[in-house]
Amino acid sequence: MKDYNGFSGKQRERAQRWLNKAWTAGQLARPIECVACGQTEGVIQAHAEDYSEPFRAGVTDGFHLCIICHAMVHARSKSPKAWRDYRAMVEVGGRAKVMKSNQNFLGATAQFVNRPITADMFDWGSPPARRALLEIEVSQDEAAERIGLSSDAAERSSTAAVDPQSN
Ligand SMILES: [Zn+2]
Repeated sequence: MKDYNGFSGKQRERAQRWLNKAWTAGQLARPIECVACGQTEGVIQAHAEDYSEPFRAGVTDGFHLCIICHAMVHARSKSPKAWRDYRAMVEVGGRAKVMKSNQNFLGATAQFVNRPITADMFDWGSPPARRALLEIEVSQDEAAERIGLSSDAAERSSTAAVDPQSN
């Protein structure tokens, strides 16, 4: 895993192992709904903005995200325009269409980062109650400031994480 928000890839892997154990043991609810767009279909994962220990519920699994919202969160520093366009769609009720081809980071990135984002890539409903993508954006900017990186560089390198369980 790549460094994120000043946390090392190794630390993030420790957090993921803790999550996997807690899910298996039934101590923590597995992600079943995206807090950003409301998606319940396809791959839903846990995303953290804070990987500090002790690992804990509500922080280490702070955001349950569909694979596409999750891929966009990790694409933001490299592709700010795609991020802005995507967040705007979600905030007015867009929910990215679940397709076999976009249910991993590479597929989601290919579809939503490397091409223009258009309304027909979404199913449409009511705007979400919670603006989770904005919460994450603010948190990334605060982390960048805290660790002395220029804004929107809180994630140091590129977007792709091949293993869908690894973020
Ligand atoms: Zn989502």
